[in-house]
Amino acid sequence: MPEFVGAVDQGTTSTRFMIFDHSGNEVAKHQLEHQQILPRSGWVEHDPVEIWERTNTVIQNALRDGGLSASDLRAIGITNQRETTVVWDPRSGRPYYNAIVWQDTRTDRIAAALERDGHGDVIRHKAGLPPATYFSGGKIKWLLENVDGLREAAEAGHAVFGNTDAWVLWNLTGGPNGGVHATDVTNASRTMLMNLETLDWDDELLGIFGIPRSMLPAIHPSSDPEAFGAARTSRPLSAAVPITGVLGDQHAATVGQVCFSPGEAKNTYGTGNFLVLNTGEELVRSRSGLLTTVAYQFAGSPAVYALEGSIAVTGAAVQWLRDQLKIIGTAPDSEQLARSVEDNGGMYFVPAFSGLFAPYWRSDARGAIVGLSRYNTGGHIARATLEAICYQSRDVVEAMEKDSGVHLDVLKVDGGVTANDLCMQIQADVLGVPVSRPVVAETTALGAAYAAGLAVGYWSDTDELRTHWQESKRWEPQWEEERRQEGYQDWKRAVERTLDWVRVGDGD
Ligand code: ADP
Repeated sequence: MPEFVGAVDQGTTSTRFMIFDHSGNEVAKHQLEHQQILPRSGWVEHDPVEIWERTNTVIQNALRDGGLSASDLRAIGITNQRETTVVWDPRSGRPYYNAIVWQDTRTDRIAAALERDGHGDVIRHKAGLPPATYFSGGKIKWLLENVDGLREAAEAGHAVFGNTDAWVLWNLTGGPNGGVHATDVTNASRTMLMNLETLDWDDELLGIFGIPRSMLPAIHPSSDPEAFGAARTSRPLSAAVPITGVLGDQHAATVGQVCFSPGEAKNTYGTGNFLVLNTGEELVRSRSGLLTTVAYQFAGSPAVYALEGSIAVTGAAVQWLRDQLKIIGTAPDSEQLARSVEDNGGMYFVPAFSGLFAPYWRSDARGAIVGLSRYNTGGHIARATLEAICYQSRDVVEAMEKDSGVHLDVLKVDGGVTANDLCMQIQADVLGVPVSRPVVAETTALGAAYAAGLAVGYWSDTDELRTHWQESKRWEPQWEEERRQEGYQDWKRAVERTLDWVRVGDGD
């Protein structure tokens, strides 16, 4: 009997393949970055062919490093950067254009027009999302309008859409030779095209965007014993392995953090931050700027919904200190620099580089550093950057408490930035609740492995998965209430100053 479960994690900056054992421990992993293509201000693209090649390589290398072969894998899960849009020709496997990445703001005119033409409410109600550049629907529309011949090809059935899960799945299952064109409910819930109640593509929404249904993948539960398909025995696997789990990265992290009960939440700190609160089988419609989304669906059970607060720039602001300002050499250096000062010295940094996502949804915002005086140093900038990560998370937590009435007792965290001890301490201070990080930091890949493993009976149920979760570190709040409140008021004033900066359509 195969001993392990594998997971492809196709992320924004890299692709990894991880192999887990029955206790949810990492057995092997390989990871490769791919190119960030930035053709113009606000545009962010990836090369889908490069992503597929990287996927191949990381699977082969992780198996090799673990001394394993494909026949040691009981099942494979796929998790992915969500919303990023690939359109390809299923006859050849050739993409019609680069992947348009979730952060890309070229569809701001499309998003603004949806609101202006009165479609905002129906999209919010049916899809649970505000019209924004972030989601796939506008990106598909842009491609249909801007790539020569694409609309005709789509109408003739020669162009299909997928997020990177579907792209990787189609290629793993044979590509032009019988590749399976499918996705799961969580990825589909990020397109503005899926109805959250029926869990199917919605004709009214498709009509608003002018997208032919024939372009879209079949929607499966996130964990599916019927399997999305079997990975072919050709490259990169030497044996057919069933692919039985697919879910978007933040949904996978929710599963990996075993947030299976209503009221449980996790916050992932990567390029951006994504706080997801399980609301159970109840579809909670946000009045406070959060997204309503499908947390996950295990076959045979109803979908579990979530409220999500997506923040575009958190760890990316640390990268900006490193790559643009060059005041640190590596991302972890931000901690030492921030520790060189006692506090933020009156400085607030709002890294609204691509506008503000939750809970503001303002594409007209741009970044600002406010409160500067001559006294300030690079240390204050580093400290204000870490604080910005935490204050943006507080904005989302406040919105979540308003929408759901749930008060967090503890915040479960994961992602690259959680290696920063000071940042996590500030997070506990700013929220006034403890912050807790698990032993297995790779919760996204783990969640995809859980979804795949549950489907084939490798794990029996979610209670068994709960027993794997172990805390590695906890930060307790230390600030006095007065400091907590004053700091947050100043942060809100700083946010105000970033609004109304860009005229929509600038940069086209
Ligand atoms: P993603 O999956 O979005 O690529 P990761 O979870 O791998 O993100 O985290 C990478 C992000 O974390 C980068 O933006 C990087 O700047 C940030 N980061 C990594 N280590 C640290 C650290 N010690 N302190 C602050 N930020 C960090």
